[in-house]
This record gives sequence, C-alpha cells and structure tokens, in this order.
Amino acid sequence: TQPRRPLLAGNWKMNLNHLEAIALVQKLAFSLEAETFEKNDIAVLPPFTDLRSVQTLVDGDKLAVAYGSQDLSPHDSGAYTGDISGAFLAKLGCTYAVVGHSERRQHHAESDELVNAKVKAALRYELTPILCIGEGLETRQAGEHVSYTLSQLDGGMAGLSKDDAANVVVAYEPVWAIGTGEVATPDDAQEMAAEIRSRVGDSFSADVAGKTRILYGGSVKAANIRPIMDQPDVDGALVGGASLDADEFAAICRFD
Ligand code: PEP
Repeated sequence: TQPRRPLLAGNWKMNLNHLEAIALVQKLAFSLEAETFEKNDIAVLPPFTDLRSVQTLVDGDKLAVAYGSQDLSPHDSGAYTGDISGAFLAKLGCTYAVVGHSERRQHHAESDELVNAKVKAALRYELTPILCIGEGLETRQAGEHVSYTLSQLDGGMAGLSKDDAANVVVAYEPVWAIGTGEVATPDDAQEMAAEIRSRVGDSFSADVAGKTRILYGGSVKAANIRPIMDQPDVDGALVGGASLDADEFAAICRFD
C-alpha cells in the first residue's frame, strides 16, 4: 500500500511578479480537474512579494492550490533586516516553506546548522518544511552521493521530535540536475529516496519513515515525470523551471 499522498510543488524561484502570479495560479487552478486535486497535493512556491496576492485569490475563489515560501528566517521577530518570519508566512495561510534549497546553500552560504534552525522555525509555526538536499556533480562522480546527501539530511533534521520529523517533506535535488535539463534517472531518484527513507527510519522510527514524503527535484517536466512517480519511494516532485508554465505544470500534476 502507498500511504503517502503525492505532492507536486512548483518552485518559481525569483520569477513572476504579483500580477503574473495571479494569472498563473488562476490558469493552473482552472485547467486542473477536481480529480487531480483529490488525489494529490498541488502547491506553488512564489516569491514572498506574491504571497498576499496568491492568498487573496486562493481564498476568494476557494481554490485547492496550496502555497508556501521559498525560504524563511530562523528567528521569530526582531532586528533581522530583510528577513521574513515564519509567523508572517503562517498568517498569510502558507502551508509550506522551502528550506535549504541548493541555490540558497550556494549563493547565501547556508550551512546545515542554519538549515536546521530554519526547519525548526517552520515547524514552530505549523508550516511544512520542504527540506532540500542533494549532491553536486563532483560528489556524484566520486561515488559519494549517498553519504553526502544523508549527512545533509542528518544536519537538517537534527534534534527534531518524532512528531516534528513526520511533518518534514524531504526533497532530493541533485544539484547537477537543477535547471540543467539533465534529469536523474528514475533509478537514481529511487536509490536516493530509499536511502533517505531508511535513514529517517534509523534516526526516528519506522512509523516516521513510512509517513515521510520524499520528493525528487531536478529538471522535472511533463515528459519525464511518470517513471519518476512510479518509483515506490518517490512521493512527488519539486519543480522549478517547468512550474512557470501553467499548462506544463498542470500536465506534471496529472502525472498519471
Ligand atoms: C528547483 O529549483 O528546485 C528545481 C528542481 O529546478 P528545475 O526543475 O528547474 O531543475
């Protein structure tokens, strides 16, 4: 049996202003069938400045699209100029917060310690963290992708209770596949998803491991999603570039 509900989440990165966001969410919501929403969780992850507009649209039209942020502060409030608190995101009706995306690890030097603090901040506000982990090309070529990725997992989930751990979504995103057009093979995605699930089992419990949703991310498109979703330990996808086109993202959401 497959107890986990699939999650298809679109990471818009630094694309689409609030007006463009409204247009995309409208188009997406109205092109997807009720059945697709019934079977799957569908989410968009827009820039912070779009979230209020997305909230207004989703609430006003009672859309089944969830939304979340691409980052959050590890702090609750205070003298952290430019940062956004989980409290603000929860107030805006966010369901998810991406944490530790490889672009933030790279461009903002985010460490596993900081990522862990952000995971905990999200959980404090009942936001579901989407914890991103995954190796770069050199690490994969050296055959060290499993140990590298599991060490990011251990760092990101350090100190969580079992209940909190069960609420974390893990996104395996090999850096060499992000925005490159080079998708991991379904076997690669399954290998790492199984390793992640097994480590969650060892660190927390078999019950937590059975509940943890593990996404694949990296050049997912409508044309390659199906065999990835067929893998037993892959519960969804984190989609970057292809989520900026409503028709393409809708096709991804209808993967079956
Ligand atoms: C991402 O940004 O999380 C991602 C997977 O990007 P892309 O789908 O464009 O490779």
